[in-house]
Amino acid sequence: MSLPASRIFEHHCCLCGACCRWEGDVCLTDADVSAISSYLHMDEAQFINTYCRLQRNRQGLSLVDADGGACCMLQADNTCSIQPVKPQQCRDFPKQWNFLGWEERCPAARKGGQTC
Ligand code: SF4
Ligand code: SF4
Repeated sequence: MSLPASRIFEHHCCLCGACCRWEGDVCLTDADVSAISSYLHMDEAQFINTYCRLQRNRQGLSLVDADGGACCMLQADNTCSIQPVKPQQCRDFPKQWNFLGWEERCPAARKGGQTC
């Protein structure tokens, strides 16, 4: 789904962490795996064995879910433990990709970019 450019431009994330709790895959590119494993001081095999699973379509890797379904990298204060190297999928949402109904689930979008 693509949004009107005006609405996308207005979006300012308020770091509520809600989208890190949504169902689905946190897909990883090969570059993501390399960057994140290096950031965590792990070799890639160790990182994959510890933090990755197959995407539901079995086409690649995803970060695993924590108990309760949130991304395993989401911290208690709603910050991302790998923020400097978070996956491209995370960096691109919602300006580069989004889905039908995302605005109803994102506090910043619901408020038109104002404070959440
Ligand atoms: S749900 Fe929206 S406001 Fe909350 S962290 Fe995600 S993009 Fe930011
Ligand atoms: S990697 Fe970080 S930004 Fe991406 S879903 Fe997980 S906690 Fe959220």
